[in-house]
Amino acid sequence: MTKEWLGGTTIFAEMSALAVRTGAINLGQGFPDTDGPEEIREAAVRALRDGRGNQYPPGPGVPELRTAVAAHQRRFHGLTYDPDTEVLVTAGATEAIAAALLALVEPGDEVIALEPYYDSYAACIGMAGGTRVPVTLRPRDGAYHLDPDELRAAVTDRTRLILLNTPHNPTGTVLGRDELAAVAELAVERDLLVVTDEVYEHLVFEGEHLPIAGFPGMRERTLTISSAGKTFSFTGWKVGWVTGTPKLVTAVRSAKQFLTYVASGPFQYAIAEALALPDTYFTAFRDDLRAKRDVLAKGLTDAGFQVYMPQGTYFITTDISDLAPGTDALTFCRELPHRCGVVAVPNSVFYDHPTAGRTQVRFAFCKRQSVLSEAADRLRNSFARH
Ligand code: PMP
Ligand code: GLN
Repeated sequence: MTKEWLGGTTIFAEMSALAVRTGAINLGQGFPDTDGPEEIREAAVRALRDGRGNQYPPGPGVPELRTAVAAHQRRFHGLTYDPDTEVLVTAGATEAIAAALLALVEPGDEVIALEPYYDSYAACIGMAGGTRVPVTLRPRDGAYHLDPDELRAAVTDRTRLILLNTPHNPTGTVLGRDELAAVAELAVERDLLVVTDEVYEHLVFEGEHLPIAGFPGMRERTLTISSAGKTFSFTGWKVGWVTGTPKLVTAVRSAKQFLTYVASGPFQYAIAEALALPDTYFTAFRDDLRAKRDVLAKGLTDAGFQVYMPQGTYFITTDISDLAPGTDALTFCRELPHRCGVVAVPNSVFYDHPTAGRTQVRFAFCKRQSVLSEAADRLRNSFARH
C-alpha cells in the first residue's frame, strides 16, 4: 500500500473534468452551485480592504476565528474548548485530516476507518506510514449502518486510532447515539484515540448530529475536525479547524506548520462572523437542502435507481444493480454523461472491500432546484422507459 496515490487523480477531479468535457450536469464533486451568504462575502472583502489577514496570520489561526469556533462548539454541542490552547485553524478539513494523521500515527500503526471512506483518508494514512483497517458500513432497511461487533473485531494491539466520519460521506448516514456510544466504549476500553471528521455537522435532515467528543471519557481522547466549506457554501475558501485537548491540538499544529504553515488569512475573519450567524441561517440552509434531497431522490427513484435516503450530508448513494445489471459503478459513471448528460461518482473507489461498493453510485444535491429537476428529468427519460 505504499504511495498508491502517486500519479493518480482524485475521482472528484476526474468526474468534474468529465462534466466540463461533456457539458453534463455535475452531480459528482460535492460543491454548491450558489455561493454562501452575501454578508459573509462582504466580511471577506472588508478584511481584505482593511488589511486584516493579507500577511501571514498567526500559526494557530486568528484569535477572532479561534474564539468563534469555541463559541460554536459551546452553542451547538455544549462542548467547551479554550480558544488559545484547544482550537487550531487549518487549510480546510483536508489539511486537518492530513496533519492529524501525520502527527498521531507512527509507521506500522493501524488506523480503523469506516468504509466507504473519503478519499484523502486512505492517502493520508499511507503518507503517515500507517495501515488502514476498514470497517464496512452495510445497508439495512434502506440506510447504511455501523456494526459495533465488526468494529470491535477490527481492533488489535497495533490499533492507534479510529477515524470516524459522521454525517458520513458518501452514504449520508448519521451515526446514532447507540452506535457512537459503542465506539466510545471501545475507545475507552482499548485506550484508542478518535479523530472525527464532522464537516457535515449542520447538514442533518433526520435525527441529530452528536459529536463523539461529548460521550463519557471521550473529550480527552478525541480530535474533532470541521470546516466552513459545507456549512457556509464557501468550499474554495479552505477554512477548517480542529478542537481537542492542548496535547492533541499541539501535535496537529506541529505537523500543520510544515504543511501550509498558515492559510486563508482574510477568510478566517469572515468565517468568524459566519459562525456567529443566527440559528435561522443554519435551519433555513438545512431545510433548503432537505427539499433538494427530496427532489433528487424522487427523480432517482422514478428512474429506477435504488435510493438509500441520506439522513445527512449532501449526497445520495444509490444502487444500480437493477437498473444496469452486470455493470460496475465506475463503468456506469464514465458512461452516464454520454448517455444522459449527468455526472455522478462511483462509490466503489472508496472501498478496499472487493465487492461491497461495486454497484453503488453517489449523486450530489447541493445544486439549484432547477438544475436538480433537469438532472432528474434526464435520468428519468434515459432510464425509466427501459
Ligand atoms: N471530509 C469530508 C468527509 C469531506 O466530504 C470533505 C470535502 N467535502 C472534506 C473532509 C474536506 O473538507 P475541506 O474542503 O474543508 O478541506
Ligand atoms: N468533498 C467533496 C466530495 O466528496 C470533494 C472535495 C474534493 O474534490 N477533494 O465530493
